[in-house]
Amino acid sequence: MKPMIQASDLTRKYGSGANEFSALKGVSIEVEAGESVAITGKSGSGKSTLMHILALLDKPTSGSLNIDGVETSKLNTRELSKIRNKSFGFVFQQFFLNGKETVLENVTLPLEIAGIAKKKRDEMGMETLSLLGIESKAKNRAMDLSGGQKQRVAIARALVNKPKVIFADEPTGNLDSNTGERVEELLFALNRERGITLVVVTHDNEFASKFGRQIEIADGLVANNQLTGASL
Ligand code: ADP
Ligand code: MG
Repeated sequence: MKPMIQASDLTRKYGSGANEFSALKGVSIEVEAGESVAITGKSGSGKSTLMHILALLDKPTSGSLNIDGVETSKLNTRELSKIRNKSFGFVFQQFFLNGKETVLENVTLPLEIAGIAKKKRDEMGMETLSLLGIESKAKNRAMDLSGGQKQRVAIARALVNKPKVIFADEPTGNLDSNTGERVEELLFALNRERGITLVVVTHDNEFASKFGRQIEIADGLVANNQLTGASL
């Protein structure tokens, strides 16, 4: 079986001329369907750059990226967004919610982008909110929630399209440690119980040790890639 993600020799340069900077210098990794992978490394090492490329939010300067059997380097923007909307969910450190809209409106945004009718998307949105235990907040404006609740809403939004992969960049970075732990548990439960592949950037070693695989990035290169023995 083809891996879910197969990246070969990815590079990413920012700027040009004297300002040119190589953030990725040739990264090759594979992630199997159902794996949980932590991308670790110091600040500035290239973690977010790598995650954005793997998640089709950014294009590499060179290298190839195969997603679920599809070579993506030749695809146009529309084809890339289609894969992203259909197969990926995203969770970031900043929750990126629209504070003035309701929780349900925020959660169903990916379905609206995918062109699903309102009745159906509200139904799917409520189902996802129930799964995360925040269905009672559906009608609240997002700005009126606590940090932990906001991250649950962001996770609900990442889940609503039933993605194959969830990409997260420092998902617990803005949460207190108790709330952060609950968000961690939630992500691992989605991996265990629903087989959703996790690719999560973190500089928190304890969090990273709970993933099935740790990939350490240093100075734009893979410094270490190992199975941790944490159970899937
Ligand atoms: P990390 O997520 O590990 O902290 P990043 O991937 O965000 O690292 O950044 C890697 C390097 O690339 C850093 O030195 C950063 O300053 C640089 N960088 C990131 N984004 C840009 C950009 N848009 N333009 C120029 N340099 C960038
Ligand atoms: Mg980063």
